[in-house]
Amino acid sequence: MSEAAIASAPPALAGAHRLVVKIGSALVVDSKAAAPRAAWLASVAADIARLRARGVDVIVVSSGAIALARRSLGLTQKRLKLEEKQAAAAVGQIRLAQAWTEALEANGLTAAQLLLTLEDTEDRRRYLNARATLNTLLGFGCIPVINENDTIATSEIRFGDNDRLAARVAEMVQADQLVLLSDIDGLYTADPKRDPAAAHIPVVEALTPEIEAMGGEPPPGYSSGGMRTKLVAARIATQAGCAMVISVALMLCTGE
Ligand code: GLU
Repeated sequence: MSEAAIASAPPALAGAHRLVVKIGSALVVDSKAAAPRAAWLASVAADIARLRARGVDVIVVSSGAIALARRSLGLTQKRLKLEEKQAAAAVGQIRLAQAWTEALEANGLTAAQLLLTLEDTEDRRRYLNARATLNTLLGFGCIPVINENDTIATSEIRFGDNDRLAARVAEMVQADQLVLLSDIDGLYTADPKRDPAAAHIPVVEALTPEIEAMGGEPPPGYSSGGMRTKLVAARIATQAGCAMVISVALMLCTGE
């Protein structure tokens, strides 16, 4: 645990009661091995256990289903058709759930899977049902592990990225913190991979048009989010009174 990282964390993180953590495919899946990053998942699960021990409710929104099934289905091209994504998700979601179950059980925690669609977060009856189930699971001390129900979501009604799904979940359960774990440690004035002059913005107080313009276009490759969807997620979350952090590691939140 890095003390420096904790010291620089926004103060609200230390007092989180209900936390939603979104974890992208690039972190969950070793794309070369086409397998879950077991050691990394184990360390995140240990952090989650520390948070639970402090009484924090934790919900995980995990991508990785499609990435976990690509190789075994021979889907190595970057862009997949919708039906290929749906099939890959059907194969990969079982592997993803298994990886999370093992990582969390090793830390004495029970994983619970929810697969949601955009409609589940917009239709009132389904929204209330999903919310009630999540609250019941949290009452049991379980760790809900959520992904988009990619196998039935068509292109018109797909979130397509878990950044917005995670923000909707945070809104649904009245979380006070949303953490988007990513391969980038926050918002930059431009894409730092392309522009060496890009500057890191440590804290965004308000989502102004200038800030939103920093979203740019989604990156090529397996991840579908990019900064643009993270800023959309920030709008959804902050309008619901939930602070959002973009980080490369969960250690910011454990305060140990
Ligand atoms: N739901 C997709 C999956 O599990 C990923 C969506 C995303 O990249 O955010 O593979």
